[in-house]
Amino acid sequence: MRTFVHTSRSSRVVFGSGTVGRLREEVERLGCSRVLLLSSRPLASTTTRVREALGDLVVAEFGGAAMHTPVEVTERALDVLTHASADAIVAVGGGSTTGLSKALALRTDLPQVIVPTTYAGSEVTPVLGETRDGRKVTQSSPAILPETVVYDVDLTLALPLPLTVTSGVNALAHAVEALYSADANPVTDRQALDAISGIARALPRLAADPADPEARTGLLHAAWLAGTCLATVGMGLHHKLCHTLGGSFGLPHAETHTVVLAHAMAYNARAVPEVMRRVADALGVPDAPSGVYDLIVSLGGPTSLCELGLAESDLARAAELAAAKPYPNPRELTTEGIGELLAGAWQGRRPQ
Ligand code: NAD
Repeated sequence: MRTFVHTSRSSRVVFGSGTVGRLREEVERLGCSRVLLLSSRPLASTTTRVREALGDLVVAEFGGAAMHTPVEVTERALDVLTHASADAIVAVGGGSTTGLSKALALRTDLPQVIVPTTYAGSEVTPVLGETRDGRKVTQSSPAILPETVVYDVDLTLALPLPLTVTSGVNALAHAVEALYSADANPVTDRQALDAISGIARALPRLAADPADPEARTGLLHAAWLAGTCLATVGMGLHHKLCHTLGGSFGLPHAETHTVVLAHAMAYNARAVPEVMRRVADALGVPDAPSGVYDLIVSLGGPTSLCELGLAESDLARAAELAAAKPYPNPRELTTEGIGELLAGAWQGRRPQ
């Protein structure tokens, strides 16, 4: 018999095509009427659609969300929010915009409506990673969890292929690590396996036609499931490494996940062979770590930390940082073992 604990988080999820048209209703449902609209610069036309849907509910806007949620940016956005007496936050964009929304909600307890445009999954988690003085610190709180998520497949149709690939692998990483999490349970197992097979089906189709609506729907659905796994169970070595590389070395989030995942899986594989077999089956490949690597190569995604700009001389410090604090992981973590893993990832070697 399997003994487990499952805690589900409550947020409202609206999923479909054209759902951005329901934003006004969703804000009003929360009893709010003064929206601070958060966005990021490359999403101008998407933000226009969101602004139009919200109409006169928008009382202020902030378009400067940045990756890894720097506190200086949050403080600037907080000034805008306070000055406008906003009573709700609507964020349109990827994990960076969602992160800014969460940082503001943590400081103000205002309700959030998130409109995701990538596959990061942050919108369904109560977790926030903020960067202060070059260090990324993560915390979890019910105030951080967004009240409502509006997934509109239409807003993802124009996501460029390279971002689609790396963000899709970011979602894949949540699902893979959920399966070998110390907190794994039958609900998250099912969600994770559905997410993995959904991602493996969708990404090659999107490489052929990035606007394929059915594949976009499948990938967004998978990203929601993977994000739900991330919200529910603790993550292991892979997420810790990416957190270190992003927070302390400034590497880009989704790209780093894309490079590291196959290597972290190979490191853990010998401790959890049954999990890797299930991942391989869901991916439709004979071996999970090399199957993930080959998938990324076939999609033209990044394969080395070198190409992401990490200096070889930083590898030792990254290994030390990632091994410094113990955390649950299927295989014992040693600075030497992590160092070898990172060396392989830096070179972009195919894991065996
Ligand atoms: P991002 O939000 O930084 O987006 C990457 C780039 O893509 C940005 O320039 C953005 O403007 C652009 N973009 C986004 N959607 C687009 C679209 N549809 N079309 C064209 N361009 C688009 O990247 P991300 O990978 O989504 O998020 C990364 C951030 O999210 C990191 O800070 C990471 O730590 C955080 N995150 C947090 C959690 C959590 O649970 N706390 C989970 C995942 C990610």
